[in-house]
Amino acid sequence: MARGRTRAVPGEGPAKAEILFVGEGPGYHENQQGRPFVGPAGKFLEELLASVELGREEVFIANIVKCRPPGNRDPLPPEIQACSKYLDRQVELIGPRMIVTLGRYSLARFFPGQSIGKVHGTWRESDGTILFAMYHPAAALHQQSLKQTIEADMLKIPQALAQAGDRAGNRDPEEPQPQQLRFF
Ligand code: URA
Repeated sequence: MARGRTRAVPGEGPAKAEILFVGEGPGYHENQQGRPFVGPAGKFLEELLASVELGREEVFIANIVKCRPPGNRDPLPPEIQACSKYLDRQVELIGPRMIVTLGRYSLARFFPGQSIGKVHGTWRESDGTILFAMYHPAAALHQQSLKQTIEADMLKIPQALAQAGDRAGNRDPEEPQPQQLRFF
């Protein structure tokens, strides 16, 4: 799949982001720019982030696969497998308090065996990290009826973070601001 790409899209955000969003894979715009979620789905993701008073530069945004599948098809199991080591390393280095899964491929990685229709808007803790499941923002662009569901799910993120509270360890506000990481 790497052969057909224009640019790899490893992800971007603060090196020690509190929240890591994991989408599916780059689309047309992302492949052109080498940045995640810069097309229409990205615009909606930025609106969702704004609804909980977050800017995209405050969170880390990555994907399950780092190169655009040809013709924008769904990623294949060997492609997901080939990219998994990059995502694993990102999770390890960033050490987020929360991982938000966007869509079914990301769900399959962090909530194996679960269905998005059942678990969207819910969270669980795994080794001190909160895993929060959401529909993919692009789903709202194809299916207008999901827009409100996605918006309502997003509003639960602050609650999930607060509930997990000190259990996952609050960061020291005196800590120097970490630099932005783009992985390229
Ligand atoms: N959809 C995704 O899953 N990821 C992107 O980066 C853009 C659109």
